[in-house]
Amino acid sequence: MRYLDGEMSAAERTAFEAHLASCGECRQSMNELGRVERLTGMMKIRDPQDDFWENYWKKLFRRLERKTAWLFIIAGAALIVLYALWKGVTDFGEITFVKVVAVIFAAGFVILLISVVRERVHRYRTDRYRDIER
Ligand SMILES: [Zn+2]
Repeated sequence: MRYLDGEMSAAERTAFEAHLASCGECRQSMNELGRVERLTGMMKIRDPQDDFWENYWKKLFRRLERKTAWLFIIAGAALIVLYALWKGVTDFGEITFVKVVAVIFAAGFVILLISVVRERVHRYRTDRYRDIER
């Protein structure tokens, strides 16, 4: 059992394995013991508390991961827009395709930003009033 549970020292382990290699009887009983161990291991009832915490950390990690990804995407898009606007302002020569695309993209981004902010503000206000009893 100590061998199966990995509680032997390295020296003990080598000596034990050397004996197993030369003794069929011990090898046989080791095989049987191993089978029983595996069976009881499979039948061990999982603690629901463990499942809860495992899921909790997984979910939290996933949520953080998602948030970080969005943050990077939004930051990158905002930088592209700012760069395009700055470029357009600093050297506004002839109207090129790239400049038109940049203006369209910037307009879309600004509208989206305003929309999201307005929605957030609206939700914040309605949430606040929900708590007030009339
Ligand atoms: Zn033996």
